[in-house]
Amino acid sequence: MTTALDVLQHTFGYDQFRGQQQEIIEALAGGENVLVLMPTGGGKSLCYQVPALLRPGVAIVVSPLIALMQDQVDALDELGVKASFLNSSLSFDELKQVEAQLLNDELDLLYIAPERLLQERNLALLERCHLSLFAIDEAHCVSQWGHDFRRDYLALNQLRQRFPAVPMIALTATADERTREEIVERLQLQNGRHFVCGFDRPNIQYRIQQKQRSREQLLKFLEQEQQGNSGVVYCLSRKKVEETARWLSERGYRALPFHAGLGSEEKKQNQTTFLREESVIIVATIAFGMGIDKPDVRFVVHMDMPKSIEAYYQETGRAGRDGEAATALMFYGIEDVVKLKQMASASEAGEHFKRLEQQRINTLLGLCELHTCRRQLLLRYFGDELDQACGNCDNCLEPPRSWDATEAAQKALSCVYRSGQRFGVGHLIDILRGANNERIHKFGHHRLSTWGIGKEHSAEQWRVIFRQLLARELLALDDEGWGVLHLTESARPILRGEEVLELREDVKQKPSRREARRIIDEIEPADMPLWQALRACRKHLAEEHGVPPYVIFSDASLKEMLVHRPVNAEAMLAINGVGDKKMRNFGQDFIDVVIAHQYE
Ligand code: ADP
Ligand code: ZN
Repeated sequence: MTTALDVLQHTFGYDQFRGQQQEIIEALAGGENVLVLMPTGGGKSLCYQVPALLRPGVAIVVSPLIALMQDQVDALDELGVKASFLNSSLSFDELKQVEAQLLNDELDLLYIAPERLLQERNLALLERCHLSLFAIDEAHCVSQWGHDFRRDYLALNQLRQRFPAVPMIALTATADERTREEIVERLQLQNGRHFVCGFDRPNIQYRIQQKQRSREQLLKFLEQEQQGNSGVVYCLSRKKVEETARWLSERGYRALPFHAGLGSEEKKQNQTTFLREESVIIVATIAFGMGIDKPDVRFVVHMDMPKSIEAYYQETGRAGRDGEAATALMFYGIEDVVKLKQMASASEAGEHFKRLEQQRINTLLGLCELHTCRRQLLLRYFGDELDQACGNCDNCLEPPRSWDATEAAQKALSCVYRSGQRFGVGHLIDILRGANNERIHKFGHHRLSTWGIGKEHSAEQWRVIFRQLLARELLALDDEGWGVLHLTESARPILRGEEVLELREDVKQKPSRREARRIIDEIEPADMPLWQALRACRKHLAEEHGVPPYVIFSDASLKEMLVHRPVNAEAMLAINGVGDKKMRNFGQDFIDVVIAHQYE
Protein backbone atom coordinates (compact mmCIF):
# COMPACT_ATOMS: atom_id res chain seq x y z
CA MET A 1 0.00 0.00 0.00
CA THR A 2 1.25 3.46 -0.84
CA THR A 3 1.74 5.66 2.19
CA ALA A 4 1.62 9.41 2.50
CA LEU A 5 5.38 9.42 2.97
CA ASP A 6 5.91 7.47 -0.27
CA VAL A 7 3.90 10.04 -2.17
CA LEU A 8 5.78 12.89 -0.50
CA GLN A 9 9.15 11.43 -1.38
CA HIS A 10 8.54 9.99 -4.83
CA THR A 11 6.10 12.44 -6.30
CA PHE A 12 7.06 15.66 -4.57
CA GLY A 13 10.67 14.82 -3.84
CA TYR A 14 10.65 16.05 -0.23
CA ASP A 15 12.06 13.88 2.51
CA GLN A 16 9.80 14.79 5.41
CA PHE A 17 6.56 16.47 6.34
CA ARG A 18 6.51 19.91 7.79
CA GLY A 19 4.68 20.79 11.00
CA GLN A 20 1.31 19.13 11.16
CA GLN A 21 1.11 18.14 7.50
CA GLN A 22 1.24 14.43 8.20
CA GLU A 23 -1.60 14.43 10.73
CA ILE A 24 -3.73 16.57 8.47
CA ILE A 25 -3.07 14.36 5.48
CA GLU A 26 -3.83 11.19 7.39
CA ALA A 27 -7.08 12.57 8.76
CA LEU A 28 -8.28 13.67 5.34
CA ALA A 29 -7.06 10.55 3.58
CA GLY A 30 -8.94 8.56 6.22
CA GLY A 31 -12.16 10.31 5.23
CA GLU A 32 -12.47 12.92 7.98
CA ASN A 33 -13.45 16.54 7.46
CA VAL A 34 -10.69 18.97 8.27
CA LEU A 35 -10.16 22.66 8.88
CA VAL A 36 -6.59 23.92 8.47
CA LEU A 37 -5.24 27.26 9.55
CA MET A 38 -1.70 27.64 8.41
CA PRO A 39 0.32 30.71 7.59
CA THR A 40 1.15 31.55 4.02
CA GLY A 41 4.08 29.45 2.96
CA GLY A 42 3.31 26.83 5.59
CA GLY A 43 2.63 24.19 2.97
CA LYS A 44 -1.15 24.02 2.68
CA SER A 45 -1.26 22.64 -0.86
CA LEU A 46 0.32 19.34 0.08
CA CYS A 47 -2.40 18.84 2.69
CA TYR A 48 -4.90 18.09 -0.05
CA GLN A 49 -2.61 17.13 -2.92
CA VAL A 50 -1.17 14.12 -1.11
CA PRO A 51 -4.61 12.78 -0.02
CA ALA A 52 -5.84 13.36 -3.58
CA LEU A 53 -3.22 10.85 -4.71
CA LEU A 54 -3.91 8.41 -1.88
CA ARG A 55 -7.69 8.25 -2.29
CA PRO A 56 -9.36 6.87 -5.40
CA GLY A 57 -11.23 9.34 -7.59
CA VAL A 58 -10.71 13.00 -8.37
CA ALA A 59 -10.19 15.75 -5.81
CA ILE A 60 -12.14 18.96 -6.42
CA VAL A 61 -10.16 22.04 -5.42
CA VAL A 62 -12.24 25.20 -5.10
CA SER A 63 -10.22 28.36 -5.48
CA PRO A 64 -11.14 31.96 -6.28
CA LEU A 65 -7.79 32.53 -7.92
CA ILE A 66 -8.47 31.78 -11.54
CA ALA A 67 -5.28 33.43 -12.72
CA LEU A 68 -3.19 30.94 -10.80
CA MET A 69 -4.87 27.74 -11.89
CA GLN A 70 -2.82 27.33 -15.02
CA ASP A 71 0.45 27.61 -13.09
CA GLN A 72 -0.74 25.23 -10.39
CA VAL A 73 -1.75 22.67 -12.96
CA ASP A 74 1.53 23.12 -14.85
CA ALA A 75 3.49 22.61 -11.65
CA LEU A 76 1.58 19.40 -10.88
CA ASP A 77 2.10 18.24 -14.42
CA GLU A 78 5.87 18.59 -13.96
CA LEU A 79 5.53 16.30 -10.96
CA GLY A 80 3.61 13.72 -12.95
CA VAL A 81 0.28 14.43 -11.25
CA LYS A 82 -2.80 14.41 -13.48
CA ALA A 83 -4.53 17.72 -12.89
CA SER A 84 -6.73 20.07 -14.82
CA PHE A 85 -8.93 23.09 -14.24
CA LEU A 86 -12.33 24.46 -15.15
CA ASN A 87 -12.73 28.21 -15.37
CA SER A 88 -13.85 30.95 -17.70
CA SER A 89 -10.52 31.04 -19.53
CA LEU A 90 -11.17 27.73 -21.32
CA SER A 91 -12.53 27.45 -24.83
CA PHE A 92 -15.52 25.25 -25.55
CA ASP A 93 -13.33 22.46 -26.90
CA GLU A 94 -11.00 22.57 -23.93
CA LEU A 95 -14.01 22.44 -21.66
CA LYS A 96 -15.32 19.33 -23.36
CA GLN A 97 -11.93 17.72 -23.07
CA VAL A 98 -11.70 18.31 -19.34
CA GLU A 99 -15.21 16.95 -18.87
CA ALA A 100 -14.28 13.81 -20.75
CA GLN A 101 -11.16 13.36 -18.60
CA LEU A 102 -13.35 13.73 -15.52
CA LEU A 103 -15.90 11.18 -16.58
CA ASN A 104 -13.20 8.71 -17.57
CA ASP A 105 -11.65 9.00 -14.13
CA GLU A 106 -8.39 10.23 -15.64
CA LEU A 107 -7.74 13.08 -13.21
CA ASP A 108 -6.31 13.22 -9.70
CA LEU A 109 -7.17 16.87 -9.14
CA LEU A 110 -9.53 19.35 -10.66
CA TYR A 111 -9.25 23.07 -9.85
CA ILE A 112 -12.46 24.97 -10.23
CA ALA A 113 -13.77 28.46 -9.51
CA PRO A 114 -16.72 28.51 -7.06
CA GLU A 115 -19.18 30.17 -9.41
CA ARG A 116 -18.55 27.42 -11.95
CA LEU A 117 -18.74 24.60 -9.50
CA LEU A 118 -22.14 25.71 -8.30
CA GLN A 119 -23.76 25.79 -11.70
CA GLU A 120 -26.34 23.03 -11.71
CA ARG A 121 -24.83 21.57 -14.84
CA ASN A 122 -21.46 21.11 -13.17
CA LEU A 123 -22.88 19.77 -9.94
CA ALA A 124 -24.72 17.19 -11.98
CA LEU A 125 -21.49 16.39 -13.79
CA LEU A 126 -19.71 15.79 -10.49
CA GLU A 127 -22.49 13.47 -9.38
CA ARG A 128 -21.53 11.21 -12.23
CA CYS A 129 -17.85 11.17 -11.21
CA HIS A 130 -15.94 9.40 -8.52
CA LEU A 131 -14.88 12.12 -6.04
CA SER A 132 -12.05 11.67 -3.55
CA LEU A 133 -12.40 14.93 -1.61
CA PHE A 134 -13.29 18.61 -1.70
CA ALA A 135 -10.60 21.15 -0.86
CA ILE A 136 -11.83 24.69 -0.21
CA ASP A 137 -8.85 26.99 -0.60
CA GLU A 138 -8.93 30.56 0.77
CA ALA A 139 -11.82 29.36 2.93
CA HIS A 140 -12.08 32.71 4.74
CA CYS A 141 -13.91 33.94 1.64
CA VAL A 142 -17.10 32.39 3.10
CA SER A 143 -16.90 34.78 6.00
CA GLN A 144 -18.91 37.97 5.82
CA TRP A 145 -16.99 39.19 8.80
CA GLY A 146 -13.65 38.85 7.03
CA HIS A 147 -12.23 41.14 4.39
CA ASP A 148 -12.31 38.91 1.32
CA PHE A 149 -15.91 37.87 1.37
CA ARG A 150 -17.21 36.31 -1.86
CA ARG A 151 -20.87 35.65 -2.36
CA ASP A 152 -20.23 32.48 -4.36
CA TYR A 153 -18.48 30.94 -1.40
CA LEU A 154 -21.65 31.12 0.69
CA ALA A 155 -23.35 28.59 -1.51
CA LEU A 156 -20.58 26.04 -0.97
CA ASN A 157 -22.58 24.51 1.86
CA GLN A 158 -24.65 22.88 -0.90
CA LEU A 159 -21.73 20.53 -1.40
CA ARG A 160 -22.30 19.07 2.04
CA GLN A 161 -25.90 18.27 1.19
CA ARG A 162 -25.27 16.84 -2.23
CA PHE A 163 -22.09 14.93 -1.48
CA PRO A 164 -22.34 13.97 2.21
CA ALA A 165 -19.93 11.07 1.87
CA VAL A 166 -17.08 13.07 0.32
CA PRO A 167 -14.65 14.46 2.92
CA MET A 168 -13.88 18.16 2.86
CA ILE A 169 -10.81 20.16 3.81
CA ALA A 170 -11.06 23.93 4.25
CA LEU A 171 -7.81 25.89 4.24
CA THR A 172 -6.98 29.46 5.13
CA ALA A 173 -4.15 31.64 6.37
CA THR A 174 -6.49 34.00 8.22
CA ALA A 175 -6.27 33.47 11.93
CA ASP A 176 -9.05 35.58 13.29
CA GLU A 177 -11.21 33.61 15.74
CA ARG A 178 -14.49 34.93 14.43
CA THR A 179 -13.65 34.16 10.81
CA ARG A 180 -12.71 30.66 11.84
CA GLU A 181 -16.06 30.12 13.56
CA GLU A 182 -17.88 31.34 10.52
CA ILE A 183 -15.99 28.95 8.25
CA VAL A 184 -16.88 26.03 10.49
CA GLU A 185 -20.53 27.00 10.59
CA ARG A 186 -20.98 27.73 6.90
CA LEU A 187 -19.13 24.68 5.67
CA GLN A 188 -20.59 22.50 8.43
CA LEU A 189 -17.25 21.32 9.72
CA GLN A 190 -18.39 21.10 13.36
CA ASN A 191 -17.56 17.45 13.66
CA GLY A 192 -14.38 17.66 11.66
CA ARG A 193 -10.85 18.02 12.99
CA HIS A 194 -9.37 21.46 13.35
CA PHE A 195 -5.69 22.11 12.95
CA VAL A 196 -4.43 25.49 14.02
CA CYS A 197 -0.80 25.67 13.08
CA GLY A 198 1.64 28.15 14.51
CA PHE A 199 1.62 31.49 12.79
CA ASP A 200 5.26 32.25 13.03
CA ARG A 201 7.26 32.86 9.86
CA PRO A 202 10.75 32.61 11.31
CA ASN A 203 12.51 33.22 8.00
CA ILE A 204 10.96 36.67 7.60
CA GLN A 205 12.90 39.51 9.16
CA TYR A 206 10.57 42.30 10.27
CA ARG A 207 11.86 45.86 10.11
CA ILE A 208 9.91 49.05 10.59
CA GLN A 209 11.42 52.50 10.10
CA GLN A 210 10.14 56.02 10.14
CA LYS A 211 9.82 57.71 6.82
CA GLN A 212 12.55 60.16 6.20
CA ARG A 213 13.08 60.24 2.53
CA SER A 214 11.41 56.96 1.88
CA ARG A 215 12.42 56.57 -1.74
CA GLU A 216 16.08 56.97 -0.85
CA GLN A 217 15.56 54.55 2.01
CA LEU A 218 14.06 52.07 -0.43
CA LEU A 219 16.87 52.51 -2.90
CA LYS A 220 19.48 51.95 -0.26
CA PHE A 221 17.75 48.79 0.88
CA LEU A 222 17.61 47.45 -2.67
CA GLU A 223 21.20 48.36 -3.43
CA GLN A 224 22.71 47.05 -0.24
CA GLU A 225 20.64 43.97 0.35
CA GLN A 226 18.48 42.88 -2.52
CA GLN A 227 20.44 43.01 -5.75
CA GLY A 228 18.95 40.64 -8.31
CA ASN A 229 16.06 39.56 -6.09
CA SER A 230 12.32 39.61 -6.68
CA GLY A 231 10.05 41.55 -4.39
CA VAL A 232 6.88 43.54 -3.86
CA VAL A 233 6.71 47.23 -2.97
CA TYR A 234 3.31 48.31 -1.63
CA CYS A 235 2.07 51.90 -1.84
CA LEU A 236 -1.20 53.36 -0.60
CA SER A 237 -2.29 55.11 -3.80
CA ARG A 238 -2.29 54.36 -7.50
CA LYS A 239 -0.47 57.56 -8.23
CA LYS A 240 2.33 56.68 -5.88
CA VAL A 241 2.52 53.22 -7.42
CA GLU A 242 3.07 54.72 -10.86
CA GLU A 243 5.61 57.25 -9.63
CA THR A 244 7.59 54.77 -7.59
CA ALA A 245 7.70 52.21 -10.40
CA ARG A 246 8.92 54.87 -12.83
CA TRP A 247 11.48 56.17 -10.37
CA LEU A 248 12.91 52.70 -9.79
CA SER A 249 12.98 51.96 -13.51
CA GLU A 250 14.99 55.12 -14.08
CA ARG A 251 17.48 53.77 -11.60
CA GLY A 252 17.95 50.54 -13.49
CA TYR A 253 15.51 48.26 -11.70
CA ARG A 254 12.95 46.14 -13.50
CA ALA A 255 9.96 47.61 -11.68
CA LEU A 256 6.39 47.08 -12.92
CA PRO A 257 3.26 48.80 -11.62
CA PHE A 258 0.12 46.96 -10.55
CA HIS A 259 -3.15 48.53 -9.40
CA ALA A 260 -6.87 48.24 -10.09
CA GLY A 261 -6.80 51.20 -12.48
CA LEU A 262 -4.62 49.49 -15.07
CA GLY A 263 -6.10 47.67 -18.05
CA SER A 264 -6.60 43.98 -17.50
CA GLU A 265 -4.07 43.11 -20.20
CA GLU A 266 -1.33 45.16 -18.57
CA LYS A 267 -2.13 43.79 -15.14
CA LYS A 268 -2.01 40.27 -16.41
CA GLN A 269 1.21 40.84 -18.24
CA ASN A 270 2.96 42.45 -15.28
CA GLN A 271 1.82 39.69 -12.99
CA THR A 272 3.04 37.04 -15.40
CA THR A 273 6.41 38.71 -15.81
CA PHE A 274 6.76 38.84 -12.06
CA LEU A 275 5.86 35.17 -11.69
CA ARG A 276 7.97 33.89 -14.54
CA GLU A 277 11.10 35.96 -14.44
CA GLU A 278 13.74 36.66 -11.89
CA SER A 279 14.79 40.04 -10.45
CA VAL A 280 11.43 41.71 -11.07
CA ILE A 281 9.95 44.19 -8.59
CA ILE A 282 6.20 44.71 -8.53
CA VAL A 283 5.10 48.10 -7.22
CA ALA A 284 1.49 47.74 -6.21
CA THR A 285 -1.52 48.78 -4.24
CA ILE A 286 -3.14 46.11 -2.13
CA ALA A 287 -5.05 45.09 -5.27
CA PHE A 288 -2.02 42.92 -5.89
CA GLY A 289 -1.39 39.86 -3.93
CA MET A 290 -4.15 37.55 -2.93
CA GLY A 291 -2.78 34.13 -3.69
CA ILE A 292 0.37 35.30 -5.37
CA ASP A 293 1.96 31.95 -5.39
CA LYS A 294 5.55 32.88 -6.06
CA PRO A 295 7.73 31.09 -3.54
CA ASP A 296 10.92 33.13 -4.01
CA VAL A 297 9.73 36.65 -3.19
CA ARG A 298 12.71 37.88 -1.18
CA PHE A 299 11.30 41.14 0.15
CA VAL A 300 8.06 43.00 0.76
CA VAL A 301 8.36 46.73 1.34
CA HIS A 302 5.55 48.96 2.59
CA MET A 303 6.18 52.51 1.49
CA ASP A 304 3.14 53.52 3.58
CA MET A 305 1.53 52.08 6.64
CA PRO A 306 -1.00 49.34 5.88
CA LYS A 307 -4.43 49.57 7.47
CA SER A 308 -4.20 46.87 10.11
CA ILE A 309 -1.99 44.19 11.61
CA GLU A 310 -3.99 41.58 9.69
CA ALA A 311 -3.28 43.32 6.41
CA TYR A 312 0.38 43.80 7.34
CA TYR A 313 0.83 40.17 8.24
CA GLN A 314 -0.90 38.93 5.15
CA GLU A 315 1.03 41.24 2.83
CA THR A 316 4.42 40.57 4.40
CA GLY A 317 3.54 36.86 4.42
CA ARG A 318 3.99 36.83 0.67
CA ALA A 319 7.73 36.99 1.20
CA GLY A 320 9.81 33.86 1.61
CA ARG A 321 7.26 31.13 1.07
CA ASP A 322 10.12 28.84 0.13
CA GLY A 323 11.42 29.07 3.69
CA GLU A 324 14.56 30.96 2.67
CA ALA A 325 15.52 34.24 4.36
CA ALA A 326 13.29 37.17 3.38
CA THR A 327 12.79 40.73 4.61
CA ALA A 328 9.66 42.71 5.41
CA LEU A 329 10.42 46.42 5.59
CA MET A 330 7.89 49.14 6.40
CA PHE A 331 8.22 52.92 6.33
CA TYR A 332 5.64 54.89 8.26
CA GLY A 333 4.88 58.41 9.37
CA ILE A 334 2.22 60.30 11.20
CA GLU A 335 0.77 61.49 7.89
CA ASP A 336 -0.06 57.84 7.15
CA VAL A 337 -2.07 57.58 10.32
CA VAL A 338 -4.01 60.71 9.45
CA LYS A 339 -4.64 59.52 5.91
CA LEU A 340 -5.78 56.05 7.00
CA LYS A 341 -8.16 57.54 9.53
CA GLN A 342 -9.54 59.78 6.85
CA MET A 343 -10.13 56.82 4.57
CA ALA A 344 -11.77 54.82 7.32
CA SER A 345 -14.09 57.63 8.26
CA ALA A 346 -15.06 58.36 4.65
CA SER A 347 -16.01 54.74 3.99
CA GLU A 348 -19.60 53.63 3.59
CA ALA A 349 -19.41 51.22 6.48
CA GLY A 350 -21.53 51.45 9.60
CA GLU A 351 -20.42 53.26 12.78
CA HIS A 352 -19.44 50.11 14.60
CA PHE A 353 -17.26 48.94 11.75
CA LYS A 354 -15.65 52.36 11.44
CA ARG A 355 -14.78 52.31 15.11
CA LEU A 356 -13.13 48.92 14.65
CA GLU A 357 -11.13 50.25 11.71
CA GLN A 358 -9.90 53.15 13.82
CA GLN A 359 -8.84 50.74 16.52
CA ARG A 360 -6.99 48.60 14.03
CA ILE A 361 -5.00 51.59 12.85
CA ASN A 362 -4.05 52.41 16.44
CA THR A 363 -2.95 48.85 17.12
CA LEU A 364 -0.71 48.88 14.10
CA LEU A 365 0.81 52.18 15.18
CA GLY A 366 1.58 50.44 18.46
CA LEU A 367 3.56 47.83 16.55
CA CYS A 368 5.46 50.55 14.70
CA GLU A 369 6.48 52.35 17.86
CA LEU A 370 7.33 49.21 19.81
CA HIS A 371 10.70 48.96 21.58
CA THR A 372 10.69 45.21 22.02
CA CYS A 373 10.48 42.17 19.79
CA ARG A 374 8.07 42.78 16.91
CA ARG A 375 7.44 39.11 16.27
CA GLN A 376 6.32 38.53 19.84
CA LEU A 377 3.71 41.23 19.50
CA LEU A 378 2.57 40.01 16.09
CA LEU A 379 2.17 36.45 17.25
CA ARG A 380 0.44 37.46 20.45
CA TYR A 381 -2.00 39.40 18.33
CA PHE A 382 -2.90 36.18 16.55
CA GLY A 383 -3.16 34.24 19.79
CA ASP A 384 0.22 32.57 19.48
CA GLU A 385 2.92 32.91 22.13
CA LEU A 386 6.63 33.18 21.53
CA ASP A 387 8.55 32.62 24.76
CA GLN A 388 11.69 34.42 23.77
CA ALA A 389 12.51 37.46 21.71
CA CYS A 390 12.97 36.30 18.14
CA GLY A 391 16.43 37.57 17.26
CA ASN A 392 15.29 38.29 13.72
CA CYS A 393 13.51 41.64 13.83
CA ASP A 394 15.05 45.11 13.91
CA ASN A 395 14.40 45.61 17.61
CA CYS A 396 16.06 42.34 18.48
CA LEU A 397 19.00 42.93 16.16
CA GLU A 398 19.55 46.49 17.28
CA PRO A 399 17.72 47.24 20.50
CA PRO A 400 16.51 50.85 20.40
CA ARG A 401 17.66 53.14 23.18
CA SER A 402 15.20 55.17 25.17
CA TRP A 403 15.37 58.57 26.83
CA ASP A 404 13.50 60.34 29.62
CA ALA A 405 10.92 62.29 27.66
CA THR A 406 8.76 63.39 30.59
CA GLU A 407 9.44 67.06 30.22
CA ALA A 408 9.06 67.08 26.46
CA ALA A 409 5.82 65.16 26.78
CA GLN A 410 4.50 67.65 29.34
CA LYS A 411 5.26 70.52 27.01
CA ALA A 412 3.59 68.81 24.06
CA LEU A 413 0.53 67.74 26.02
CA SER A 414 -0.03 71.08 27.65
CA CYS A 415 0.38 72.78 24.30
CA VAL A 416 -2.44 70.61 22.96
CA TYR A 417 -4.54 71.54 25.97
CA ARG A 418 -3.84 75.27 25.95
CA SER A 419 -4.66 75.64 22.27
CA GLY A 420 -8.05 74.06 22.85
CA GLN A 421 -7.47 70.55 21.43
CA ARG A 422 -8.42 71.79 17.98
CA PHE A 423 -5.14 71.65 16.03
CA GLY A 424 -2.90 69.26 14.18
CA VAL A 425 0.75 68.45 14.65
CA GLY A 426 2.16 71.08 12.29
CA HIS A 427 0.52 73.96 14.08
CA LEU A 428 1.29 72.59 17.54
CA ILE A 429 4.96 72.36 16.63
CA ASP A 430 4.84 75.95 15.38
CA ILE A 431 3.56 77.02 18.78
CA LEU A 432 6.17 75.00 20.67
CA ARG A 433 8.99 76.34 18.55
CA GLY A 434 7.73 79.90 18.77
CA ALA A 435 6.90 80.46 15.11
CA ASN A 436 5.75 83.90 14.07
CA ASN A 437 3.56 83.12 11.12
CA GLU A 438 0.17 84.34 10.09
CA ARG A 439 -1.74 81.39 11.41
CA ILE A 440 -0.15 81.74 14.85
CA HIS A 441 -1.20 85.38 14.98
CA LYS A 442 -4.66 84.71 13.62
CA PHE A 443 -5.38 82.50 16.62
CA GLY A 444 -3.41 84.65 19.04
CA HIS A 445 -1.24 81.68 19.86
CA HIS A 446 1.88 83.80 20.34
CA ARG A 447 0.26 84.78 23.63
CA LEU A 448 -0.04 81.20 24.89
CA SER A 449 2.19 80.17 27.78
CA THR A 450 3.45 77.28 25.67
CA TRP A 451 4.54 79.49 22.77
CA GLY A 452 8.25 79.02 22.18
CA ILE A 453 8.88 76.66 25.10
CA GLY A 454 10.14 73.83 22.89
CA LYS A 455 13.01 75.34 20.93
CA GLU A 456 15.43 72.71 22.20
CA HIS A 457 13.98 70.19 19.77
CA SER A 458 13.81 70.48 16.01
CA ALA A 459 10.47 70.31 14.25
CA GLU A 460 11.36 66.84 13.10
CA GLN A 461 12.11 65.69 16.63
CA TRP A 462 8.79 67.07 17.79
CA ARG A 463 7.08 65.10 15.08
CA VAL A 464 8.61 61.92 16.43
CA ILE A 465 7.59 62.85 19.97
CA PHE A 466 3.99 63.53 18.95
CA ARG A 467 3.83 60.30 17.03
CA GLN A 468 5.05 58.36 20.01
CA LEU A 469 2.58 60.08 22.32
CA LEU A 470 -0.10 58.97 19.91
CA ALA A 471 1.17 55.42 19.86
CA ARG A 472 1.19 55.41 23.66
CA GLU A 473 -2.39 56.68 23.54
CA LEU A 474 -1.63 59.77 25.58
CA LEU A 475 -2.96 61.70 22.62
CA ALA A 476 -5.62 60.67 20.15
CA LEU A 477 -6.50 61.79 16.65
CA ASP A 478 -10.02 62.76 15.70
CA ASP A 479 -11.76 60.00 13.82
CA GLU A 480 -12.70 62.21 10.90
CA GLY A 481 -9.14 62.35 9.71
CA TRP A 482 -8.54 66.11 10.10
CA GLY A 483 -5.41 65.33 12.04
CA VAL A 484 -6.68 67.16 15.13
CA LEU A 485 -5.14 65.98 18.40
CA HIS A 486 -6.79 65.76 21.79
CA LEU A 487 -5.70 64.46 25.19
CA THR A 488 -6.77 61.11 26.56
CA GLU A 489 -7.36 60.14 30.19
CA SER A 490 -3.89 58.65 30.46
CA ALA A 491 -2.29 62.02 29.72
CA ARG A 492 -3.22 63.34 33.15
CA PRO A 493 -0.64 61.65 35.36
CA ILE A 494 2.09 62.80 32.98
CA LEU A 495 0.85 66.37 33.02
CA ARG A 496 0.65 66.32 36.79
CA GLY A 497 4.18 65.00 37.00
CA GLU A 498 3.08 61.76 38.65
CA GLU A 499 4.56 59.56 35.98
CA VAL A 500 7.82 59.37 34.13
CA LEU A 501 7.75 58.72 30.40
CA GLU A 502 10.47 56.90 28.53
CA LEU A 503 10.37 57.19 24.78
CA ARG A 504 12.24 55.36 22.14
CA GLU A 505 15.22 57.17 20.77
CA ASP A 506 14.73 57.27 17.07
CA VAL A 507 18.05 57.23 15.38
CA LYS A 508 18.05 58.92 12.04
CA GLN A 509 17.93 56.37 9.27
CA LYS A 510 19.00 53.35 11.16
CA PRO A 511 21.75 51.67 9.17
CA SER A 512 21.14 47.97 9.10
CA ARG A 513 24.37 46.67 10.50
CA ARG A 514 23.39 43.10 10.32
CA GLU A 515 21.92 42.67 6.93
CA ALA A 516 19.37 40.04 6.15
CA ARG A 517 20.86 36.73 5.27
CA ARG A 518 20.72 36.60 1.54
CA ILE A 519 20.89 33.62 -0.71
CA ILE A 520 23.64 35.22 -2.66
CA ASP A 521 25.65 35.86 0.50
CA GLU A 522 25.86 32.27 1.42
CA ILE A 523 27.46 31.30 -1.81
CA GLU A 524 31.21 31.21 -1.75
CA PRO A 525 32.81 33.18 -4.56
CA ALA A 526 34.38 29.95 -5.81
CA ASP A 527 30.91 28.43 -6.18
CA MET A 528 29.53 31.31 -8.18
CA PRO A 529 30.17 29.85 -11.65
CA LEU A 530 28.31 26.66 -10.77
CA TRP A 531 25.49 28.60 -9.13
CA GLN A 532 25.07 30.74 -12.22
CA ALA A 533 25.22 27.68 -14.46
CA LEU A 534 22.53 25.89 -12.42
CA ARG A 535 20.32 28.95 -12.64
CA ALA A 536 20.90 29.25 -16.36
CA CYS A 537 20.01 25.59 -16.81
CA ARG A 538 16.82 26.14 -14.84
CA LYS A 539 15.92 29.23 -16.83
CA HIS A 540 16.47 27.40 -20.08
CA LEU A 541 14.28 24.46 -19.05
CA ALA A 542 11.61 26.82 -17.72
CA GLU A 543 11.41 28.60 -21.05
CA GLU A 544 11.30 25.34 -22.92
CA HIS A 545 8.39 24.14 -20.76
CA GLY A 546 6.64 27.49 -20.60
CA VAL A 547 6.62 27.58 -16.79
CA PRO A 548 8.20 29.84 -14.15
CA PRO A 549 11.73 28.80 -13.09
CA TYR A 550 10.68 27.75 -9.60
CA VAL A 551 8.34 25.16 -11.10
CA ILE A 552 11.44 23.39 -12.40
CA PHE A 553 13.33 23.58 -9.08
CA SER A 554 13.24 25.97 -6.13
CA ASP A 555 16.22 28.08 -5.04
CA ALA A 556 16.51 25.75 -2.06
CA SER A 557 16.92 22.73 -4.33
CA LEU A 558 19.57 24.48 -6.43
CA LYS A 559 21.44 25.43 -3.30
CA GLU A 560 21.47 21.82 -2.18
CA MET A 561 22.89 20.83 -5.54
CA LEU A 562 25.61 23.39 -5.04
CA VAL A 563 26.52 21.88 -1.70
CA HIS A 564 26.15 18.19 -2.49
CA ARG A 565 27.25 18.27 -6.14
CA PRO A 566 25.19 15.27 -7.27
CA VAL A 567 26.87 13.47 -10.18
CA ASN A 568 24.52 10.48 -10.46
CA ALA A 569 20.82 9.73 -10.24
CA GLU A 570 20.94 8.41 -6.72
CA ALA A 571 22.63 11.52 -5.39
CA MET A 572 20.28 13.72 -7.37
CA LEU A 573 17.21 11.98 -5.94
CA ALA A 574 18.48 12.73 -2.46
CA ILE A 575 18.16 16.47 -3.15
CA ASN A 576 15.03 18.01 -1.63
CA GLY A 577 12.50 18.79 -4.33
CA VAL A 578 13.73 16.11 -6.75
CA GLY A 579 11.04 13.48 -7.15
CA ASP A 580 10.76 10.65 -9.64
CA LYS A 581 9.34 12.57 -12.56
CA LYS A 582 11.58 15.60 -12.21
CA MET A 583 14.53 13.25 -11.98
CA ARG A 584 13.53 11.68 -15.29
CA ASN A 585 12.86 15.00 -16.98
CA PHE A 586 15.53 17.33 -15.68
CA GLY A 587 17.88 15.29 -13.50
CA GLN A 588 20.42 14.60 -16.17
CA ASP A 589 20.59 18.23 -17.33
CA PHE A 590 21.57 19.34 -13.86
CA ILE A 591 23.94 16.42 -13.33
CA ASP A 592 25.68 17.45 -16.54
CA VAL A 593 26.04 20.99 -15.26
CA VAL A 594 27.53 19.73 -12.00
CA ILE A 595 29.95 17.46 -13.83
CA ALA A 596 31.04 20.27 -16.14
CA HIS A 597 32.00 22.34 -13.11
CA GLN A 598 33.53 19.51 -11.14
CA TYR A 599 37.10 20.72 -11.20
CA GLU A 600 36.52 24.38 -10.62
P1 ADP B 1 0.79 27.82 1.33
O1 ADP B 1 -0.27 27.41 0.33
O2 ADP B 1 0.49 27.35 2.71
O3 ADP B 1 1.12 29.26 1.27
P2 ADP B 1 2.47 26.17 -0.26
O4 ADP B 1 1.62 24.98 -0.28
O5 ADP B 1 2.50 27.01 -1.49
O6 ADP B 1 2.12 27.08 0.97
O7 ADP B 1 3.95 25.73 0.14
C1 ADP B 1 4.98 26.66 0.25
C2 ADP B 1 6.29 26.07 -0.21
O8 ADP B 1 6.75 25.08 0.69
C3 ADP B 1 6.18 25.39 -1.57
O9 ADP B 1 7.30 25.76 -2.34
C4 ADP B 1 6.17 23.92 -1.22
O10 ADP B 1 6.64 23.13 -2.27
C5 ADP B 1 7.07 23.88 0.01
N1 ADP B 1 6.78 22.73 0.89
C6 ADP B 1 5.58 22.38 1.39
N2 ADP B 1 5.67 21.28 2.17
C7 ADP B 1 6.97 20.91 2.16
C8 ADP B 1 7.73 19.85 2.78
N3 ADP B 1 7.14 18.94 3.55
N4 ADP B 1 9.06 19.80 2.53
C9 ADP B 1 9.64 20.73 1.75
N5 ADP B 1 9.01 21.75 1.15
C10 ADP B 1 7.69 21.85 1.34
ZN1 ZN C 1 12.34 40.07 17.54
